[in-house]
Amino acid sequence: MEQIIPFNKPFLAGNEIGYIQEAVQSGNISGNGFFTKKCQAFFEEKYNFKKCLLTTSCTDALEMASILADIKEGDEVIIPSYTFVSTALPFVRLGAKIIFADSEENNPNIDADKIESLITSKTKAIVPVHYAGVACDMDKIMNLAKKYNLIVIEDAAQAIDSFYKGKPLGSIGHLSAFSFHETKNIISGEGGMLAINDERFIDRAEIIWEKGTNRASFFRGEINKYGWVDTGSSFLPSEIIAAFLWAQLENLKKIQDKRKENWEKYYNGLKEWADKKNIRLPEIPNYASKNGHMFYLVCNNIEERSNLINKLKENKIMSVFHYLSLHSSPFYTDRYEGEILINSDKYSNCLVRIPLFYELTENDINKIILNITSID
Ligand SMILES: *Cc1c(COP(=O)(O)O)cnc(C)c1O
Repeated sequence: MEQIIPFNKPFLAGNEIGYIQEAVQSGNISGNGFFTKKCQAFFEEKYNFKKCLLTTSCTDALEMASILADIKEGDEVIIPSYTFVSTALPFVRLGAKIIFADSEENNPNIDADKIESLITSKTKAIVPVHYAGVACDMDKIMNLAKKYNLIVIEDAAQAIDSFYKGKPLGSIGHLSAFSFHETKNIISGEGGMLAINDERFIDRAEIIWEKGTNRASFFRGEINKYGWVDTGSSFLPSEIIAAFLWAQLENLKKIQDKRKENWEKYYNGLKEWADKKNIRLPEIPNYASKNGHMFYLVCNNIEERSNLINKLKENKIMSVFHYLSLHSSPFYTDRYEGEILINSDKYSNCLVRIPLFYELTENDINKIILNITSID
């Protein structure tokens, strides 16, 4: 019987269990130990993030960012509507009003040209999401932030090892959040990281990370006792998770190369057919790079998409649509006062993601391409 091609398959680089065993044998398996420091230093050196703190998820990293941005009841935060709930959730919990921006026409990212008209005296932060690991137009966003004194928090959950005009994503905003959830390029099951680029946030970030205590500072010998000094939570992951993550990071290049190769195969194999049918493939703006996180198609309408998903499913290939616009979600729709977001709704109705993971074989890819291009 023919095997199902799943939508995603978490890739194990090889040393995960070995490093976990090392962590366990060292006798220190709570957080902020040997592997946590190794992972954080790796990111700081490779991507020029000023300070990195591992977290238990990207959602947690965004939660830390929302505390650092000092979000209060009544503040406004601008985010794209076409994103995962986690982009909005931490800000909502602190009482912010979410102002949803539309996506670009050619790309699910937030349309930077539509942000300025949404800014009011209450706006505190902008949270751009680099969808599929493709950069938002960060110069425009950072200029607005400067002009209106706003904090930019990059939701870089999907954006590891990707770039904007040569600058690593996650190094541009004041704060950035990454995910190592098993569906992302580099994984630790659940996991995430806060990158801090604006130095004024570093000390407080460490305190929030360590349950509101100045414990990190104590362990560096900077103070002689530690205590409760601020708000916070238990945001740091255990060494077991960091050990797993380290095995992945050691293989970052190998993983990225393979994923990007798979992405290219899809693009080349589908382009002609897609053009003929007016179906769109990912467009990478000239300021952005790709990181092989995701391959998607944008159909002309919801029927065409359902047909494609069903056809693939009949042939044991799993494909999935993506976000339902947050502004029309059951949780937010009654509170939403803004305009219709045409592009966000279009991606909600028409975008479909096809399998992209490390272990996808040449045969799998060819079979998927053949199945798609045989649809007339
Ligand atoms: C995956 C994802 C998240 C959430 O990441 P977790 O690590 O699961 O909390 C947030 N935002 C975006 C855009 C994502 O893709």
